[in-house]
Amino acid sequence: MSNRVFVPVLFAALLSACATRGAVDETPVQADSTLGTFCDRLPRPEFAALDKHGASDDWFEVYEVRPGTFAIYEPWQWQEVISWLIVGDTRALLFDTGNGIADIRRVVDRLTGLPLTVTNSHSHADHVGGNHAFVEILSTMDDFAIARSQGLPYEAVADEVSPQALCHGLPDGYQALSHRLRPYPLYDRVYDGARIELGGRVLEVIAIPGHTPDSIALLERASGYLWTGDTFYMGPIWLYAPETDFEAYRASMARLVALAPALTALFPAHNTPEANPVVLAQALAGFDAMRSGDIEAELAWPGTVTYPVGDFSFLVKQGAFDAR
Ligand SMILES: [Zn+2]
Repeated sequence: MSNRVFVPVLFAALLSACATRGAVDETPVQADSTLGTFCDRLPRPEFAALDKHGASDDWFEVYEVRPGTFAIYEPWQWQEVISWLIVGDTRALLFDTGNGIADIRRVVDRLTGLPLTVTNSHSHADHVGGNHAFVEILSTMDDFAIARSQGLPYEAVADEVSPQALCHGLPDGYQALSHRLRPYPLYDRVYDGARIELGGRVLEVIAIPGHTPDSIALLERASGYLWTGDTFYMGPIWLYAPETDFEAYRASMARLVALAPALTALFPAHNTPEANPVVLAQALAGFDAMRSGDIEAELAWPGTVTYPVGDFSFLVKQGAFDAR
């Protein structure tokens, strides 16, 4: 999204580029007129240079962005969430499990037969929706993550299967009224500095609270890859949920910026599969400018505003910085 969008376009873009829809009381008012706009934006040009993998199906598109590093993308639902399968010589790690609308387990089984560990970038519903299909789920085990593992009822996630959230309807046989976040077991704890060994590949866990208390990034030092979850992606970054903490977010972003010189690619959790690490510094500077009043807010929908920063933006509650 550019910083020149006007409000109706911005609104449509939000519907196609959002994250963090787990908090039901935060659901924006939606306009039917945005439906066509959301779907018309697809496919995103950033995917054009990538080959769609044969493991793709009608719901998931799979792209091998790097050897053994697969983006599992849900393009036709407005979150455009991307889960990541990272395959080593002896194990594989699934970083997020998507909306839980279609069967991500089936896709993963087509990609690897190795023993599989699951962990989540954070516990918003669009990232943990398929967790119930897996056994070995690593979690930060903080209050937010534990509460979310109990699941959410239909009412909390109904918007995610509403007509305006979908371009091609739901997968065959999936009933909108049956949609919910199914509870899932937590197997073991991940923590800042934990190393996940996959055989020939090592992932390091970096705690980056802010977007949610349980947000983590994954760093592969050997390759310079950083999986950023919802802490950074190219789109409106949602920072308005009750569980979002600005101070923590800033500290986490500063930590990622410090890593940037050693990074070769960012792999975010929404919209587009790859971003240049240089944008992290731009995001931190933009975040500070937003808080100090140096960026003009634009109304996103009643009670929520967006602050444009180059090709992405921050979405916060109106009046969030009035005390400054
Ligand atoms: Zn989120």
